[in-house]
Amino acid sequence: MLVTLKEILSDTRKNKYAVPAFDVNNLETFKAVIETAQEEKSPVIAMVLDTDMKCGNLRYLVPMMKEAASNSAIPVCIHLDHGADIDTVARYIALGFTSVMLDASTLPLSENIHRTSQAVKFAHAAGISVEAELGHVGVGLSDSNEDIENLFTVPSEVEEFVAKTGVDALAVAIGTAHGPYRGQPRLDIDRLKDIAKTTDTPLVLHGGSLTPDDQIKAAIQAGISKLNIATELRIALYRGLKFSVSELPEHASLHEIYEKPMEMMKQLVREKIRLCGSQNRA
Ligand SMILES: [Zn+2]
Repeated sequence: MLVTLKEILSDTRKNKYAVPAFDVNNLETFKAVIETAQEEKSPVIAMVLDTDMKCGNLRYLVPMMKEAASNSAIPVCIHLDHGADIDTVARYIALGFTSVMLDASTLPLSENIHRTSQAVKFAHAAGISVEAELGHVGVGLSDSNEDIENLFTVPSEVEEFVAKTGVDALAVAIGTAHGPYRGQPRLDIDRLKDIAKTTDTPLVLHGGSLTPDDQIKAAIQAGISKLNIATELRIALYRGLKFSVSELPEHASLHEIYEKPMEMMKQLVREKIRLCGSQNRA
């Protein structure tokens, strides 16, 4: 069934598990996510990055996602990842997304609060959930550990942010980064615990790819409710395609070409579901 982010995350904090969220871009990535979640009886969040949709896939992707989610026995949330502004958020709500992220995390606190609350007013009027970000999760290959730490979420700002905006989920910066890392990430679990003490709002970890499993598990125990994965799903697709390219003749059927990529993506999705502890929770 198609549900909102608020619904899908509602008992995560209490039961100390997270719902995995994957950025998808086409039939194969979406299918790997929803089929594996069904097999694992796990709730799942399928996300779309607006910047990723410059390829023009959105008009084909959305009807497919809505149809599959609505007819699925598991809870599925269709979420806009990193919405840049209110117009983008409104566009995705009009398309039928059940959740949107408004990312104003690079702006000063007051402006982040202002823009986020505007998005919340708009989305809640349509019955749609909103995720925002406080502190800023950077990019692993371009930000040093110092850059990443300078933008960590400040626990004392969380209560005010949540109260003034009314967000349904809050992304926090505690040491992960988007994409591959230059070195080894070190999550600040004590900071996360301090954040979790100040709010019952579900907390979100961006940059979940290529972060060691033990640190992800510690983060979920300390209050993370949603784990975002993008890079690792792309890597699985890429490796599967490399296998197909090296092993199959040029005239191979499309089914044969996508067999290995699908298998590798589904394996990755299964691993992340089990890492989150969301299996058998649908
Ligand atoms: Zn992100």
